[in-house]
Amino acid sequence: MGTEEDRKPTRINHRLVHALIVVMAIGILYGAMTAWWGLEQDYGGGEPSGLDANRAADGPSVATVPYSVLIVPLGVAGEDRSIPDDATLTAMVEDLRKSVDFDYTIAEPVKLPRRFLTRHTGQMRVDLALDEVSQRYEGKGYFRVMGITAQDITIPDYNFLFGLAQRPGLACVVSVERLAWRADAELRRQRIANITLHELGHTLGLSHTPDKQSVMVYSDSLDELDASGRFFTERDVELLVARRPDFAGRVFAHGSGPGE
Ligand SMILES: [Zn+2]
Repeated sequence: MGTEEDRKPTRINHRLVHALIVVMAIGILYGAMTAWWGLEQDYGGGEPSGLDANRAADGPSVATVPYSVLIVPLGVAGEDRSIPDDATLTAMVEDLRKSVDFDYTIAEPVKLPRRFLTRHTGQMRVDLALDEVSQRYEGKGYFRVMGITAQDITIPDYNFLFGLAQRPGLACVVSVERLAWRADAELRRQRIANITLHELGHTLGLSHTPDKQSVMVYSDSLDELDASGRFFTERDVELLVARRPDFAGRVFAHGSGPGE
């Protein structure tokens, strides 16, 4: 199926999906974690300006330019805070462009039906959401599609994930829900940039690397995420361009792309 997941190697080895996963310490109360630890923080500075991200028309529009990446705000019916705010989305695109110079468009939000939620924890089943996003936009001319939600996400047998991606493939889905914990606006933005570039990197064909300077290093906690590389390394860019020579001049190490 071309998908695989980040996972503890001792867990469900048969899976083929790829993702950045954090398995939480058992016993930490989920409710306490989702309480008010900065969840409502917004970006303090930096009005997004000059962004190459436009609002798409309603519904699955059709891409008209090469290397179109559609950013799909992904919510759940009846969950008022499940869609990331505009400031989050525009900052995210600005940060992605430092590493991947594609043509980003922010779509109108999509609200998934409540059957996408787990019965007991109310988290979004990101494997189902990934399938939905992939099918919805397949054949529409988009080079990549990234669903981004403020709903917590998970797959069966896990406590939660940060994201899930096809590798390589059309789609990935990322959650920003946990990234505000114990974080000021700057750290939250950095985490979002890190996760979204990591998952986009998977869709472009990159696997995990042991190089902790790279954004493609595997992390299974927020602490590891914060300690990991924030950008592609020269090696990551080499791998991407070796696989797709047309990426030359479009993917950048150390965040040195046009978004810088
Ligand atoms: Zn990963």
